[in-house]
Amino acid sequence: MEWAVIHKVLNRGAGAPNLGDYEQVRKAFSWDQARNELAGLPGGGGINIAYEALDRHVHEGRGERVALRWLAKEGGVGDFSYAELAELSSRFASALNDLGVQRGERVFTLLGRVPALYVAAFGSWKHRAVLCPLFSAFGPEPIAARMAIAEPAVLVTSAQLFRRKVMPILGQLPYLRHVILVDGLVAPMPAVPLAAGESPAPAAQSAPETTETSDGRIVDFQELLDSASPEYTIGPTDPEDLATLHFTSGTTGRPKAAMHVHAGVTAHRATAMLALDLRPDDVYWCTADPGWVTGTSYGIIGPLAVGCTLIADEEEFDAERWYRTLAEQHVDVWYTAPTAIRMLMKAGDELVKGYDLSALRFIASVGEPLNPEAVVWGQRVLGLAIHDNWWQTETGGIMIANYASMDIKPGSMGRPLPGIEAAVVRRAGQGVEVITEAGREGELALRQGWPSMFRGYLKEDERYAKCFVGGWYLSGDLARCDEDGYFWFVGRADDVIKSAGHLIGPFEVESVLMEHPAVIEAGVIGVPDPIAREAVKAFVALRPGHTAGEALRKELLAHARKRLGPAVAPREIAFRDSLPRTRSGKIMRRLLKARELGLPEGDLSTLEGGA
Ligand code: ATP
Ligand code: MG
Repeated sequence: MEWAVIHKVLNRGAGAPNLGDYEQVRKAFSWDQARNELAGLPGGGGINIAYEALDRHVHEGRGERVALRWLAKEGGVGDFSYAELAELSSRFASALNDLGVQRGERVFTLLGRVPALYVAAFGSWKHRAVLCPLFSAFGPEPIAARMAIAEPAVLVTSAQLFRRKVMPILGQLPYLRHVILVDGLVAPMPAVPLAAGESPAPAAQSAPETTETSDGRIVDFQELLDSASPEYTIGPTDPEDLATLHFTSGTTGRPKAAMHVHAGVTAHRATAMLALDLRPDDVYWCTADPGWVTGTSYGIIGPLAVGCTLIADEEEFDAERWYRTLAEQHVDVWYTAPTAIRMLMKAGDELVKGYDLSALRFIASVGEPLNPEAVVWGQRVLGLAIHDNWWQTETGGIMIANYASMDIKPGSMGRPLPGIEAAVVRRAGQGVEVITEAGREGELALRQGWPSMFRGYLKEDERYAKCFVGGWYLSGDLARCDEDGYFWFVGRADDVIKSAGHLIGPFEVESVLMEHPAVIEAGVIGVPDPIAREAVKAFVALRPGHTAGEALRKELLAHARKRLGPAVAPREIAFRDSLPRTRSGKIMRRLLKARELGLPEGDLSTLEGGA
């Protein structure tokens, strides 16, 4: 079966009889075939992410197409064509070369969603340096801790972030040879007004305050680019060359640095087409922060490798702005996260009515379980179902998904992508046993060997080795698989509650609580119980207009008991204004639990609003 045919079959629209097609496509698909779709560096020089995502399009005559449309915080729009981005990143690669940065050395970015981020990312990949994007909201401690692990030679950041967050720790970073400050490029962007009649884009910001440091490591991004050559020939790139380093979200503990290689672009491109339904002419918006793996795999690489126009919004979440962006930019495909969807739900059903979302064809979500309630809300209020998909920092790309052509079972993560073998397993002695019985819970495992698979945790070989048993990668998540081959998330292995002989997944309890009209968010943990071993305790945040109190508590307990039965329903419910979550939007159940039990809070470097 031809690749184009595979894509067409998988994404031919909801409602088609599709399970048969799914099996057919799975059989026909191979990673070799997906790799053959890549251009490869000229002269057989290997596979390089930057070449596949940018230069390839220029060489194939599509250089004038907009690759990146940047929406500035203040309201301006800056367009960069594939050709422009290719040239800017070549300049950055030349600059790294001029600075003496070697292949394999680490380049950290500490930036919001600004054009310089994309330039630095692609420039680093061209030079075969290793990119490591950090959340710009990180404070000095998490930055220092991550740098100590990866020892970057270069940091690209803004003057403001540098002053606030890096200056205090500069003395601890002996390996850091260059700090590149980008404010120069951010300000004089080729900004144009949003639409005719609207106020023009803001003028270039005033020059950043001078950065008071005698440190000779600081260079200006713009000056660097201006003096660097626009020509850069990408050197031979082994597909196994390290490309990106990504720290996990730290939901379950200390973050790990997952190592990814250039070969991963094969999977980013293929899965962007298969699971996100991306087509070359699409306008695509990924709301994930670049400090999280989603912001790289599907916020930069995948969609550009397909040839889409990428929307990058510098601003953080704001319901009104988001609806406006979807409407004004004619976004075709939108990739977001349950936490954002819950915030849109919280903003009410009316707001969206003022916006024309008719261009929108496909919505997908990742990062946390997508409660059935949210899928139903999407259908009712946005007019489109939200397609959940599952993957991890370690897997580098989407593994299990609800495709456009699949019937969605709300609450299910979907089915494994072509080329991915997933199973529910139980650990048995030194090995694992695949659970074939439908509906039975176990650990979600993936058969080793897809291109975007991580190649290690930096400096943590033992932790890495422990992830693999008998040819399977063990994800640490619990799931079940139904008779149609759909996978259902049960919970993190660490979060599962053992109560009176039952294994209770927090997700199931949280989803039932969210069915109640008063609840917008729920986090469920186990607390010690002398008889049952653990009892279920729920923390809930309410929708505007609802008041916490004894009456509502009783009502929620009764609702949960009716839906779940007394063995699984929470015994206690506590009200919170909001729940602690990671910067990638995941509820931190371990923190709820530590606080509840008065235990040490552990690594909080990724806590939103935290360190
Ligand atoms: P850490 O490994 O440091 O604890 P983390 O696992 O949260 O952090 P990520 O790699 O960003 O770091 O997140 C992957 C995890 O997110 C998955 O293992 C799973 O628990 C959760 N997840 C992602 N997508 C989904 C989904 N669609 N449904 C349920 N859970 C999901
Ligand atoms: Mg994890």
